[in-house]
Amino acid sequence: MIDNLPPLREVIRTHDLRAKKSFGQNFLLDLNLTARIARAAGDLRNADVLEVGPGPGGLTRGLLAEGARKVLAIEKDTRCLPALAEIEAAYPGRLQVIAGDALAVDPLAHLQAPVKVVANLPYNVGTELLIRWMTPAHWPPFWDSLTLMFQREVAERIVAQPGSKAYGRLALMVQWRADARIVLHLPPEAFTPPPKVSSAVVHITRRELPRFPADAAVLERVVAAGFNQRRKMLRAALKGLHPRIEDILNEAGIAPTARAEEIGLEGWCQLSETLRLAAR
Ligand code: SAM
Repeated sequence: MIDNLPPLREVIRTHDLRAKKSFGQNFLLDLNLTARIARAAGDLRNADVLEVGPGPGGLTRGLLAEGARKVLAIEKDTRCLPALAEIEAAYPGRLQVIAGDALAVDPLAHLQAPVKVVANLPYNVGTELLIRWMTPAHWPPFWDSLTLMFQREVAERIVAQPGSKAYGRLALMVQWRADARIVLHLPPEAFTPPPKVSSAVVHITRRELPRFPADAAVLERVVAAGFNQRRKMLRAALKGLHPRIEDILNEAGIAPTARAEEIGLEGWCQLSETLRLAAR
């Protein structure tokens, strides 16, 4: 028992929250598990937590029971609001719910630093938000850490290292300015209803400064070009970026015959800096 609220199965019955595919709903009903996910986000006692997609509130209850200073939860499915109101009443002044689409709502006015983001979201919304959170106009971003549930395969792409099939744009985008690790694996049966694939929770902490200097837009363009044709040698894959791409690659210390998968983060940053300076 992490709180005195009713079990989640009862909450779902009382409020008739049958999971809807259109909202990407696969609920976590084990409060011990949601408390574990909350703990994976680190010490919450002095932090505001932004939770996206609380649904019936299993993870929300975990976050509050673990001591979050405040939870701001954004939920698109208005059917969930009465269940969330009961949690609000059990934790006076610590839960604020915004009814809306997390892709359209700007929650920043309601949050105070330090902010931790925690979410169990539908796969496509989660990836879209991850990309937005990793590519703000200014760095450091509004958040200190992101603790997010993904389809296992996506989680593996986020933490991937050079030389693996999973290594690509997502790994480089995240690892350039943050540290990422998988903290929990979950089988389909952990969810109600169970999805088709396994899931994993990724914990991402921001670095104040990027690991290696680079311009975000140039780096993104170079990495995208490299991995769009990941089987080709870089001199061919990056041909469109500069008329003397072989010289640029050599200058950056990268063999023109290498493939995108073999180049580590430092190499990509070096290459994007060399290109940026050559374009002046
Ligand atoms: N966090 C709950 C849990 O762990 O049991 C629910 C998880 S369920 C996978 C995803 C939740 O995100 C659902 O409650 C769904 O209604 C909500 N959701 C889906 N798209 C959303 C969006 N664009 N903005 C806000 N919430 C969204």
